[in-house]
Amino acid sequence: MGKKHLDYLFYDPKWEPPEVIYGEDLLQEFTKDIENYAVSTMQIPWNIVKGKISNLPQKVIFVESMELPVIEKLEKKVPPVQLVMGIGGGSAHDFAKYIALKKQCRIYQVPTIIGGDASVTNAIGIRDGGKVKYIAHVFIDKVLIDYKLLSQAPQKLITCGAADILSSHTALYDWKIASDRGKEKFNEKIYMQAREEFLSELKDNKIEIKKATKKGIKTIIELYLKYAKIANLIGTDRAQEGSEHFFAYNAEYVTKKHFIHGEILTIGILVSSYLQNNNFEEIFKLINDMGMQYQISSVGLNEEEFTEIMKTMNKFVIEGGYYYSIFNEVRIKPSHIRELLKLLM
Ligand SMILES: [Zn+2]
Repeated sequence: MGKKHLDYLFYDPKWEPPEVIYGEDLLQEFTKDIENYAVSTMQIPWNIVKGKISNLPQKVIFVESMELPVIEKLEKKVPPVQLVMGIGGGSAHDFAKYIALKKQCRIYQVPTIIGGDASVTNAIGIRDGGKVKYIAHVFIDKVLIDYKLLSQAPQKLITCGAADILSSHTALYDWKIASDRGKEKFNEKIYMQAREEFLSELKDNKIEIKKATKKGIKTIIELYLKYAKIANLIGTDRAQEGSEHFFAYNAEYVTKKHFIHGEILTIGILVSSYLQNNNFEEIFKLINDMGMQYQISSVGLNEEEFTEIMKTMNKFVIEGGYYYSIFNEVRIKPSHIRELLKLLM
């Protein structure tokens, strides 16, 4: 047993990243000596991996939703285990963290797509009445980055993982205005590091990311770890999370649909950088260069839904008590929505 998982949100200044193992056929190797373990997954990833595991798990749980009452019920079906593996995308990883917390067992995360940073971060993203909430601090033992497995994913479900890094572009802007208005503490050094160092690293690797090469995948994962490190260090994830995330959360809340985090976040980044007047053209081009989808239809949104999300953004962030951001300053007008719809079709 590793460290005890904590049932409250916690930033650890001495945070050490999980051990990340890059390779091929890792599942075979890492399930070999485990006596009993559970798997948190979904139907598609499980169908891809199940034939590759010789030592099958005690229990396989398919994540239906991250709504609190649902996960509470599902977790009770898991017997005591030594280890839980999250195999799939964000929801599989978040539910695996929830099992790890409840069972106080070790946890390995195995992404089969790269839709966001849930596989490396400590907090669990749950849904409470349709709204995203972060709880707990889970110590992840290992993250298995299996290139062979990831090569079976549609390329767009790898490249969209870059959104959880590019979100820094708009999040940093929000952080800066929050601090300028005296709403928030600021850390100039971290701000500059994220802006100059981390975002440059992403841009320098845009072709590798577009092609979903090993180098591209590794770049994304390593940058996730860097952001997790600074968030733990300064006690806030403001360098990575701002209005673009709030757009994604409201999209889910308004439509009741499930989105791939990186895909809906890409739209959020474009909306925010447009409203912030924050290098929209450059970001739009970068998103294209990285092969990320930016059309609202490509993430499963229609015009009416997009309009409704935008119309309710100001209310959503203020009532939800989210970080101070561009949505506290710009009142969304029909002209914003019209213009954005033209750009994102
Ligand atoms: Zn995110």
